[in-house]
Amino acid sequence: MRLALIGKRLVTPFRILDDAVVLVEGGRIEAIGDKSILSRYKVKAIDVSGHLIAPGFIDLHLHGGGGHDVMEGTLDALETIAETHARGGTTAFLATTLTAPMDEIQTALEAISKACVSEEIAGARILGAHLEGPYLNPKQAGAQNPEYLRIPDPKELENLLKKCPFLKRVTLAPELPGGLESGRLLRAHNVMASIGHSDATYQQVLEAVEAGFSHVTHLFSATSSVRRLKAYRFAGVVEATMLLDSLSTELIADGHHLPPSLIRLAIKTKGTGRVCAVTDAISAAGLGPGEYELGGLPIIVENEVPPDYEVHPPEGSCVAKLADRSAFAGSVALMNQVLQTLVNLVGLPLTEAIKMVTWTPAHILGISHERGSLAPNMRADIVVLDENLSVKMTMVEGRVVYQKP
Ligand SMILES: [Zn+2]
Repeated sequence: MRLALIGKRLVTPFRILDDAVVLVEGGRIEAIGDKSILSRYKVKAIDVSGHLIAPGFIDLHLHGGGGHDVMEGTLDALETIAETHARGGTTAFLATTLTAPMDEIQTALEAISKACVSEEIAGARILGAHLEGPYLNPKQAGAQNPEYLRIPDPKELENLLKKCPFLKRVTLAPELPGGLESGRLLRAHNVMASIGHSDATYQQVLEAVEAGFSHVTHLFSATSSVRRLKAYRFAGVVEATMLLDSLSTELIADGHHLPPSLIRLAIKTKGTGRVCAVTDAISAAGLGPGEYELGGLPIIVENEVPPDYEVHPPEGSCVAKLADRSAFAGSVALMNQVLQTLVNLVGLPLTEAIKMVTWTPAHILGISHERGSLAPNMRADIVVLDENLSVKMTMVEGRVVYQKP
């Protein structure tokens, strides 16, 4: 049966249409128009009048949620994560691994590969795996467990690529021995190579771009910046990302990881077509404040910000920190909180903010021909939001996977 969503406003995300209707059939969007198209079809109407209809959110960096972590390596854990994030409007994501012993990473990658082809998994669609670690620079480890960090091993990586057809993205530090060779290998396999947890200089970033790196993992977080050696300044990953059009990037826009000024700076230099927003959410996403564990490290989830911080994130918006509060340990946000940050704290127009969580991540991953915007023939990945950008309903490939009670 053909479904018709009848809302107040629709963001494609390139423009806003008033009193729009979306027709869905066979998991895809069949047509978009005004109410007059209803007379031409026999439909089952879903009345979301008064609400905003947008493309479903796409999260390229997501470790967990609802108390479960991708590293558990089970379909049950992945399903809980997919369901938890669907409540925040996410319709598709890359399941992201953490630095750990290689056998644990392999187990996680195998589970992700199964989940990608499973029709049983409820919630958001798992698009593939994002390998974050162990090939990261210890100087920029952040909350990745330093005990298991290693230099890039192209042979081992090639083995992983052969075993895991759903490995879609790898974050590594290109300046480490074997880093550039790994980049060339990823490019040859059509896998997105992402500079991250990296202490590279500008010159090293240029070499990385030549080797095939096209993206930068959570800009301003675990990325090098201008440093001085004797009298001379060396630009780092941050400056290179802002300068080079060939690099896209992502921001952890949970209201804590980055102040609005840095989010605006990244958008000002790169535009919303090259900067997407991600959650980088961990297992504690959706659980509230308290003490938890991440990859063997104790962490704390709280809402405390320094007194002179630029903004006060809204009540109830927490973040995960290492137990000594020396660094963040990932976010606990769902995607609609990221959208709220972009609109309410950063002050972006609604179309631009929605683009950064829909079309832009789809484009960066190379799937914008089927996801990330509302248009005929696209997958029917749709989110319905109220005026406060709270999620009323989430639809994945034409199926309603979440409805606010
Ligand atoms: Zn991460």
